[in-house]
Amino acid sequence: MSSEKLKCGILGGTGIVGQNYIKLLRNHPWFEIIDIAASPRSEGKPYYDAVKSKWQMDCEIPQKLRTLVVRNVFDFDSLDKNLDFVFSAISLPNKEEVKSLEFQYAKKGIPVISNNSANRGTTDVPMLIPEINHEHLKVIPIQQKRRNFTHGFVIVKPNCSIQSYMAPLHAIEQAGYEIEKVVVTTLQAVSGAGFPGVASLDIIDNIVPYIEGEEEKSEKEPLKVFGRITSEGISNREDITFSATCIRVPVTDGHIASISFKCKDTIPKNEEIINIWRSYRSLPQELNLPFAPKHPIIYLENVDRPQPKKDRANDKGMAVTVGRLRDDNVLDYKFISLSHNTIRGAAGGAILNAELLKVKGFFEKRGS
Ligand code: NAP
Repeated sequence: MSSEKLKCGILGGTGIVGQNYIKLLRNHPWFEIIDIAASPRSEGKPYYDAVKSKWQMDCEIPQKLRTLVVRNVFDFDSLDKNLDFVFSAISLPNKEEVKSLEFQYAKKGIPVISNNSANRGTTDVPMLIPEINHEHLKVIPIQQKRRNFTHGFVIVKPNCSIQSYMAPLHAIEQAGYEIEKVVVTTLQAVSGAGFPGVASLDIIDNIVPYIEGEEEKSEKEPLKVFGRITSEGISNREDITFSATCIRVPVTDGHIASISFKCKDTIPKNEEIINIWRSYRSLPQELNLPFAPKHPIIYLENVDRPQPKKDRANDKGMAVTVGRLRDDNVLDYKFISLSHNTIRGAAGGAILNAELLKVKGFFEKRGS
């Protein structure tokens, strides 16, 4: 394996998720950023000037990126020929435009790993949580064949709202206990709304019991993550139902979820579920990927945990932290889960996807 780092770009590199990529990739062993693209507002500016008034990270803007000139995401003529792949953290008013933009990059031979929801419903676009559905990478050749892409492709990350409860539910199913009903209420941090996001007068001393489009995503996306591969792409799972309520709360980072679930047949014992969660490992851990959390699910015994402020940064912000597993009078069990929305739920989760793609050979040099 060559010791040269793969060269990546960040579409939407000036936004909240984009800034997280800049921070998280500072010392990445395999990837280096050579391209940042954003809107016409940022186009042509050195990255420092484009982002300085809205920089939210707890680190300085990396020296070597300060002078990098921001490209317009629609400017394909200035694309660096050496780009190996891009992360897409772009936000456009029109989802069809995002879809078409991401496929244009793929058509040009550039793999796209997206945080945007535009392509999440596209049948031949895998929606990846590497610990759960790494098998869905098999859909990439199907997509390339159907769309006549020689090297490029698009894969997506699911919504940050579902991140905290998918691995705990999957772990229980992997252990042999099928789940048929899930009722979830999410309490979502303000950083999930991007920058400038929710108006301060709306969220200080308040909660907002509505996030546009979020409940639909939280109910539908798990079905694709749990879906099966067909000759066309992914077919959503049909024998499990999710009901979601999504609420914005005055927390900076970290989405909490309160989950109740019902098993189809056999119901595991409480202690067994905790053991299942604590011993849960998957391919990213086996491959020892740089961004893989050592323990993907951390179970805390304290009755008042997990809490965003204390637990969102667990294992580099990549672990899901779970607590308060107890009987539910209506379904079988209920518990609380937490994940860092801009790290595990966005940039960090996508970096883990990229690491898996690299190891699996999906970033072989263009033209090689
Ligand atoms: P954000 O802070 O609003 O950033 C949006 C980015 O898109 C900026 O780089 C912005 O560039 C660019 N942009 C906006 N309008 C544009 C236009 N007309 N043409 C080209 N570029 C344009 O949003 P975010 O929170 O980072 O989210 C980015 C994406 O990730 C969204 O699709 C979001 O749903 C998804 N996501 C977010 C989170 C989270 O926790 N925040 C989690 C998972 C997924 P300028 O700076 O030049 O305006």
